[in-house]
Amino acid sequence: MLAVKPSFVIHIQPQAAPKPASGTPCNGCGVCCLSEPCPLGMLLSHRRVGSCAAVRWDAAANQYRCGAVVDVTAVLRQALPPGLRWLTPAMAPLLSRLARRWIAAGQGCDSELEVQSPASRQSDRQSSP
Ligand code: SF4
Ligand code: SF4
Repeated sequence: MLAVKPSFVIHIQPQAAPKPASGTPCNGCGVCCLSEPCPLGMLLSHRRVGSCAAVRWDAAANQYRCGAVVDVTAVLRQALPPGLRWLTPAMAPLLSRLARRWIAAGQGCDSELEVQSPASRQSDRQSSP
């Protein structure tokens, strides 16, 4: 039997750094958050698949960041139903603190995904028999 890993396409900023190996320091490549939301991202995105609605591109640093940490007010406004948006100022500091803990900010990359650029996919196709 042949085990085939599922593959899917994510759209990523060309300036983003390549994904590092799992366990090495996170470089903000964004692959994890653009592939699927983490448990917090599922709450904020209202979905379990696809890219997280909270992920933000930091053009100055050329890195993806968690919006629950760096853009918490906008992320909360986007996530809360219109009738509860008045809670945003009160909830923002709490979410920011919890997010840092939940996403284990500053730790190593915990994504096992393997990334292929369009160019490497093309050359793989051409070199296969
Ligand atoms: S945890 Fe890994 S995949 Fe996610 S942004 Fe950091 S380096 Fe990229
Ligand atoms: S770390 Fe932040 S941006 Fe990434 S999936 Fe989780 S909530 Fe979304």
